[in-house]
Amino acid sequence: MNLSTPIEEIPRIGIIYQKKLKRLGIKNIRDLFFHFPHRYEDFSNLIPISKAESGGPFCFQGEILDIKIIYTRKKRMVLTQATIGDGTGKLKVIWFNQPYLINTFKKGDYVFLAGKIAKKGSAKYLSSPAYEKPPTTFAKSGGGLTHTGRLIPVYPETEGLSSRWLRFIIKPLLIKLKDQIPDSLPEKISKKYKFLPFQEAIWQIHFPDSLKSAQEAKRRFAFEELFNLSLFVLRERLKLAREKAIPIPLNLNLIKKFTASLPFKLTFAQKRCIWQILKDLEKKEPMNRLLEGDVGSGKTVVAALSALNVIKVGYQVAFMAPTEILAKQHYKTLNKLLNPAPYARPHLSRKNSKGLGGGVNIGLITGKENYYKNKKITREELLKKLEEGKIDILIGTHALVQEGVKFRKLALVILDEQHRFGVEQRAKLCQSSKNTKGEKIIPHLLSMTATPIPRTLSLTVFGDLDLSIINELPKGRKKIITKIVRPKDKKETYDFIRKEVKKDRQVFVICPRIEPPTTFLENNIGQIIYNKSGGGWMEVKAVKDEYQKLSKEIFPDLKIGMLHGKMKAQEKEKVMKDFKAEKIDILVSTSVVEVGVDIPNATVMMIEGSEKFGLSQLHQFRGRIGRSNFQSYCFLFTNTPGLITNRRLKALLSCENGFELAEKDLAIRGPGDFSGSRQWGIPDLTMASLTDVFLVEKAREEAQEILGKDPELKKYPLLRERLKEFGQRIHLE
Ligand code: ADP
Ligand code: MG
Repeated sequence: MNLSTPIEEIPRIGIIYQKKLKRLGIKNIRDLFFHFPHRYEDFSNLIPISKAESGGPFCFQGEILDIKIIYTRKKRMVLTQATIGDGTGKLKVIWFNQPYLINTFKKGDYVFLAGKIAKKGSAKYLSSPAYEKPPTTFAKSGGGLTHTGRLIPVYPETEGLSSRWLRFIIKPLLIKLKDQIPDSLPEKISKKYKFLPFQEAIWQIHFPDSLKSAQEAKRRFAFEELFNLSLFVLRERLKLAREKAIPIPLNLNLIKKFTASLPFKLTFAQKRCIWQILKDLEKKEPMNRLLEGDVGSGKTVVAALSALNVIKVGYQVAFMAPTEILAKQHYKTLNKLLNPAPYARPHLSRKNSKGLGGGVNIGLITGKENYYKNKKITREELLKKLEEGKIDILIGTHALVQEGVKFRKLALVILDEQHRFGVEQRAKLCQSSKNTKGEKIIPHLLSMTATPIPRTLSLTVFGDLDLSIINELPKGRKKIITKIVRPKDKKETYDFIRKEVKKDRQVFVICPRIEPPTTFLENNIGQIIYNKSGGGWMEVKAVKDEYQKLSKEIFPDLKIGMLHGKMKAQEKEKVMKDFKAEKIDILVSTSVVEVGVDIPNATVMMIEGSEKFGLSQLHQFRGRIGRSNFQSYCFLFTNTPGLITNRRLKALLSCENGFELAEKDLAIRGPGDFSGSRQWGIPDLTMASLTDVFLVEKAREEAQEILGKDPELKKYPLLRERLKEFGQRIHLE
């Protein structure tokens, strides 16, 4: 047996438990060892029964004097009731609803019990204690007690795996194998930061001697993960710098003409970002830049300008958006921006718009429809034109990365709302090609997001990206007024909304997110069937219900529209068109309008069940309004006055700036909920330690220093090995 031994070969793990473990991503012994407890229970206070007082927890050792099962009729409970004695006294013990314990203990057994003492009248009893018999291999194993009489690890109890069971499995394996795990953290670093040696740390994190040593072990592993993450990310960056891309000369004249053709003045921040991007595009190595800008800060026009520069030297651009609605919106916007009709811009001279060259050929590909130069065409026709190089920019959804989509000379890939994309899609889209010299060419990559990245994340997870930040909103925007609305104030809010509509403004209503019900079923051969369906369906129902309520009861006189993910593309488009054309006053929707949608006339965002959404998501919703010079309002409906919810929603009231909000979100909830983080495959411990700026910075510094001296990690074979394994586990955006 060794660390790579799969869990199937561990004698005490049956098929059901194998499945449960696998669902947590635990495949072998190493994974088991790195499944860390999230807290400890202190059962180390071993006292004689005569000293027992209410409270605790305490630990007792003694003999079972009697044990029986009691059925309580009133509360419909099964109690297992026992008495133990230790020579100093006797103590009653009650376990609730664990009738099987009657088979675990019999009269005369010697046991350790640990838990709290409860009082009922003058009688006291030990309530549902943890229990164990003295281990027979006590002396030999050196392990001592496992579930009582010490600090007890408590694991995150998911997938029906109890901490007791995990202790039972992990402890003997640890005793047997811990000394076989090589320590991949360079010794110099361990010494410098006074980290526990690996073998000691892995034992202490599971079965600590004291909370202090558990803490020390935790710090060590957190550092190690952050260090490996930094190494990994920095190495990727070095690798990319060795690849080749098509250098795009910066055409200043073109840029000037384009900016002059816009119906608004670019903000200073937009100009700075455009400059950074164009400077990157000039280089021979591929750009990997993230354009971060709060909702409504005007990222699209920055993307358009970057694309234009590429197109004008004869190369192609791919522009991917996460939803159909957004892809279509971009298609229209880019058509307007890059092919301005002279009559649409009366303030422009004809010469100016011609100067842009006009005639940028834009295509749109979605799962259902395809457009080219504002006409619907078949997929085959579109793909043919793409391969012939007749399409300058192809905008699309996931359809962009499907089989058969081949660019002739792709030089730039733009991803909007990039945190929503899987890595595979990006890898596919950034497919390499060969240049005339037969060298491998990689397209430049521009990702855009409105979800600001907290500093610690940009140092680690996103450390291989260059960052451009639009930290300024276009002039004239008013601060959005945000309010938390309790049920009693709903009516007042509805009245207010009616007034806004009477002023010809428009309204979004977002329905609460509904978690798909998860059911576990066991079939007749003991396999667990994991059933996670119906989420989409439930959301549709929520939207329909809300639509009914608003259109029949509350606003029967107004025009209400409805939008959800299960609608056909054409229906969705019609609704969006009608909303844009102001044929709809109030649009009831699921979170499909979360990202990107641009309806400047909408001034009210009303969110039902707002506590169900993450902060950054709420901020995204709010970003759908306040896109014009009208005063806008965001109403957060909530029924739960919970403390945490309150704190989160209140953060939204005080912050209008997404960057500040992201830092707050990180502080309140930890980065586990940071968009997309779950798909990165980064362990919880690392995610949690990402709030520790000091540790993050140190880990990055050390990684930089090592790579600076030894970029191939030639002197660190163990570390190389770890990183390889790391790369397979992790999938960064
Ligand atoms: P986001 O950054 O959220 O993607 P968009 O690119 O959709 O924002 O832009 C939001 C709105 O602001 C659009 O209607 C766009 O035309 C407008 N806009 C962009 N830049 C400016 C600017 N410098 N001044 C005024 N309006 C602008
Ligand atoms: Mg956008």
